[in-house]
Amino acid sequence: MKLLITGGSGFIGSNFILDQIFNHNNTILNYDLLTYAGKGKNLVSIESSKKYNFIQGDISNSSLLGDIFFEFMPDAVINFAAESHVDKSISLPNDFIQTNIVGTYRLLSRATDYYIKSKNKNFRFIHISTDEVYGSLEKHGAFHEESPYKPNSPYAASKASSDFLVKSWFNTCKLPSIVTNCSNNYGPYQYPEKLIPLMIISCLKEKKLPIYGDGSNIRDWLHVEDHCRAICAVLNRGVPGETYNIGGNNEFTNISIVNKICDLLDELSPSDNLSTYKNLITFVKDRPGHDFRYAIDSSKAKRDLNWSASENFEKGLKSTVLWYVENEKWWKSILSKTKSNKN
Ligand code: NAD
Repeated sequence: MKLLITGGSGFIGSNFILDQIFNHNNTILNYDLLTYAGKGKNLVSIESSKKYNFIQGDISNSSLLGDIFFEFMPDAVINFAAESHVDKSISLPNDFIQTNIVGTYRLLSRATDYYIKSKNKNFRFIHISTDEVYGSLEKHGAFHEESPYKPNSPYAASKASSDFLVKSWFNTCKLPSIVTNCSNNYGPYQYPEKLIPLMIISCLKEKKLPIYGDGSNIRDWLHVEDHCRAICAVLNRGVPGETYNIGGNNEFTNISIVNKICDLLDELSPSDNLSTYKNLITFVKDRPGHDFRYAIDSSKAKRDLNWSASENFEKGLKSTVLWYVENEKWWKSILSKTKSNKN
């Protein structure tokens, strides 16, 4: 199969592409704008592969996208391209509206044009979205595919809008599209603005570990490789017009995640100056509109796609912490690029 991957240089996209190149027989075209979040050298190991191609571009660029569809002739598009950081969406929402909403609309339009003209009946448009579109849960219950959308942050609202656009393109234009809504991912190559890499790297730099509120907010964690396997299952067995919720069934409070990271680093890379990295924990003013809890019911994906998460959380977190310890060069280069962009 030929796969057009948008946003393939970011965290989940690059893990997905590496898995495709090493473990599947698909040809990839990665189309990525290389924003600050896509600047890591995540894909250097496959740059010379004949199965991998890259074009730098914006999903809002209709004319370039149009050319790419008809030159590459993909069997599927998997849309990972997005602005994805909630804090940034609160301070700088413009890019979220532009990429997540306008960009998704332009990609849908070009994909529909290509789908009609190419007459590729097996074509699929897979849109990668988040559980945050459903809003916040109290202590009990889990989001399922029919849960009402109640997005709270500008990020979640922009992803919710893009999901509705994709669903409407299925209904009105018959574009064979599928939406996936996934819980929080963790693993290698995650940009160090997100909780797990931020905490690991702050420990290694012996900087404060800022935790919003009292740290009691709960997230459902999924290893990125399990997410990539789920997307593969959607590609092969997903039904157009359907939505699939993807989750890890690993609910933890933020403070317990940070404590686990500190315990792991105390063992794997102990500090010369601190008796424990927990001494760096600092509680800071809560994020405005901070959702209390997310939890995903993945029973539809299990039943219809034969997918379920397989990574044990304690094992997955340990290997993730070790990856950041061993790949200091990767995160230092990302952080230095971000710093020079700001100057
Ligand atoms: P990321 O921020 O690490 O990567 C996003 C990628 O998109 C980057 O490579 C960036 O350069 C690219 N990009 C941004 N704007 C673009 C544009 N206009 N045109 C082309 N490329 C552009 O994000 P991620 O964590 O890999 O998330 C990927 C997708 O998965 C997003 O849609 C996100 O909403 C969704 N998702 C993420 C998580 C998570 O925990 N990370 C969970 C559920 C869903």
